[in-house]
Amino acid sequence: MSDSTTEVDYLVIGAGTAGMAFTDTLIGHSDRTVMMVERRHAPGGHWNDAYPFVRLHQPSAFYGVDSRELGNNRIDETGYNAGLYERASGLEILAYYRSVMEDHFRLFGQVTFLPMSDAVVDRGRVAVTSRLTGSVREITVRRKVVDARYLEGAIPATHRRSFDVDDDARCIAVNDLVRVDEAADGFIVLGGGKTSMDACLWLLDNGVDPDAITWIRPRDAWFLPRDTVQPRVKAGDTIISTAAIVEAAASAVSARDLFERLEAAGSLSRLDSSVEPTMYRGATASRSELEALRRITRVIRGRRVRRIVRDRIVFDDGDLMTTGRPLYVDCTASALSVPPVRPVFEDGRVTIQPLLAGLPSFSAALTGYIEATREDTAEQNRLAPPSRYPVTANDWISIRRDGMLALARWAQVDDVQSWVQRTRLNLTSGAETHMTEPRVAEAAATTRMLGKLAVENLTKLSLDLEPEGR
Ligand SMILES: Cc1cc2nc3c(=O)[nH]c(=O)nc-3n(C[C@H](O)[C@H](O)[C@H](O)COP(=O)(O)OP(=O)(O)OC[C@H]3O[C@@H](n4cnc5c(N)ncnc54)[C@H](O)[C@@H]3O)c2cc1C
Repeated sequence: MSDSTTEVDYLVIGAGTAGMAFTDTLIGHSDRTVMMVERRHAPGGHWNDAYPFVRLHQPSAFYGVDSRELGNNRIDETGYNAGLYERASGLEILAYYRSVMEDHFRLFGQVTFLPMSDAVVDRGRVAVTSRLTGSVREITVRRKVVDARYLEGAIPATHRRSFDVDDDARCIAVNDLVRVDEAADGFIVLGGGKTSMDACLWLLDNGVDPDAITWIRPRDAWFLPRDTVQPRVKAGDTIISTAAIVEAAASAVSARDLFERLEAAGSLSRLDSSVEPTMYRGATASRSELEALRRITRVIRGRRVRRIVRDRIVFDDGDLMTTGRPLYVDCTASALSVPPVRPVFEDGRVTIQPLLAGLPSFSAALTGYIEATREDTAEQNRLAPPSRYPVTANDWISIRRDGMLALARWAQVDDVQSWVQRTRLNLTSGAETHMTEPRVAEAAATTRMLGKLAVENLTKLSLDLEPEGR
C-alpha cells in the first residue's frame, strides 16, 4: 500500500554520472519534469564510496554534465599529470554534482530529488521506498522510466571478494589503505585494473620501497596514453593521435599487427613490453605514471587467488609462501559492468549505455538530448546505437569501429552534429580552432580519407578473431 502518489514526466533511477548527465540535457532542451531516485544520500553514484585518493583518470574538461564546467580547465604543472588537463579528485566530483543538483536542477523546479530511496519497477508500476522510513510512494510516470543504473559496477567498498581470507591474515579494501596504523611486512596488491595502479602509485608516493610491493595482476592491460586524449587547447594533438589510430586501423593485417602499430604510434601503452596484454578497460594513464609503476618488479601474473592464509597465498594452481605479516590490498572489484546491450529507447523506457566508448558523460548527455528532441523511437535508436564497456584487448577493435560509425551517423543530422560539436563533454571539443595548424589539418584529412577503409578493416579483423574468455 502506498503512502502517497506523484506524477512526473520521467523517473530517473540513479543519480550517478549517467543519471545526472542525461537529466541535464533533457531539462536543458525541454520543459519536462523529472524525479531522480537514488539509493545513496547524495548525487554522484559510486564516487560517494570511492577510495580517498581516487581521481578521474581522464581530464575533468569532458566529465560531468554538459551545462556546467567541472574544474577550471587548468593544465597541471607538476606530478604525474604535468602538462595535461587537470583531473578532479573524488571529493571535487561529489561537490560538483551536489552543486549541479542544488543550484541548477532543483532551483528551476523541473527536478525533484529523492535520495536514500529505492526505486522498483514492476509490470509498469513504479514504487519508491524511503530507506530511512520505509514509506512508499507510487509514481505515475507520464513518459518514461530512465534506467541510469544499468551499468552500475562493483566497487572496492561494497563488492564481495571472490577469495577467502583467514582471520589472522591482514587484508583490507583499498579504501582503508589511508587508515593503516601498523607497519606491514610488505604490501601485496591484488588486481590488474586502474584501482590497483592507483594503490601502487599511492604506496610509492608515500615512501614504500618498490621492492616491498608485490603486485598480483592476473592479466595485463592496454592503456590509453593520457596525452592522446586531451581537449581544447590540446585538441590538435588529439586529432593527430586519432589520425594515427585510423592509419593503423586501415592497414593492420591481424589483431596482433594492429596492436603493434598502435603501440608504435604511441596510441596504446602497456606496463611491460615483454607481456602481451589481453585486457582493455579504457583506462588512461600518463607516461610518467607507467614509468613509476614499472619500478615494481615483483609481479605475479596468470594466477588467481583462492585464499589468503597467514603465511601463504593459495592460488588455483598451488601455494606461495610469504614472509612476515604482509598487508593485502584488495583492488579486485570489477568497476565496470558489462550487461547485455539492449535498445537505448523503448516504449516507456530509456536504458543509458555507452554511445562513444570512454565517454560516459557524453553518452548519457546525448541520450538526454535525443529524448528531448525526438518522439519517434526508431529514429531515436538510429541515433543511439549502444556499445558496451570494453573488457578484452580485442574489444578495442569493435568499440573503435562502433564509435567511428556512430560519429559518421551523427554527422548526417544537422542538430545532432551541432550538439556533438558544441558539447564540452566531447573529447574533441575545440578541435575546429586548430584546423589552421598544418599538422592538424593534415591529420584531419588523413582521418577523412582513411576512415571508411579503417571501419571496413576493423570489421574484418573482428570477424577473424576467436571469441575470448571474459
Ligand atoms: C574508481 C573508479 C574510477 C573511474 N574513473 C573514471 C574516469 O576517470 N573516467 C570515466 O569516464 N569513467 C570512470 N569510471 C567509470 C564510471 O563507471 C563512470 O565514469 C560513471 O561514474 C558511472 O556512472 P553511472 O551513473 O553509470 O553509475 P554509478 O556511479 O554506479 O551510479 C548508479 C547509481 O544508481 C543507484 N541505484 C542503483 N539501483 C538503484 C535503485 N533501484 N534505486 C535507486 N537508486 C539506484 C546507485 O546507488 C548509484 O548511485 C570510474 C569508475 C570507478 C569505479
